[in-house]
Amino acid sequence: MDDCIFCKIIKGEIPSERLYEDEKMIVIRDISPKAKVHILMIPKEHYADITCLDEKRAADLAECLLKLNGLQERLGISKGFRLVVNRGASAGQTVFHLHIHILSGSKMPGF
Ligand code: AMP
Ligand code: ZN
Repeated sequence: MDDCIFCKIIKGEIPSERLYEDEKMIVIRDISPKAKVHILMIPKEHYADITCLDEKRAADLAECLLKLNGLQERLGISKGFRLVVNRGASAGQTVFHLHIHILSGSKMPGF
């Protein structure tokens, strides 16, 4: 998508601190961290949010999530992390390209 900030980051048109990349996803540091460690897992395929999953996208996303296990040390989240997915502006979504927030490094308040 031409006007999508995450597509531009994926293409390298906007700089980011890229912590990991493979054919399915990038993992970058969030520009405005809400925790000591705040990173974003961003599938390379553009779709707006978690309600746009189909079988293929769900399988790709599962692959991305499975890789988290092996990336914990590299990402600095091995002591624990919280995953957050915002869906819709009312839930706080501001970038309409699916992404998973990975929060770590400080004690999280309970729900
Ligand atoms: P959400 O509010 O769930 O849509 O999350 C979007 C996230 O993207 C926010 O936490 C922003 O701080 C982050 N963000 C926006 N622009 C950039 C950027 N250029 N590089 C890294 N993170 C960004
Ligand atoms: Zn996009």
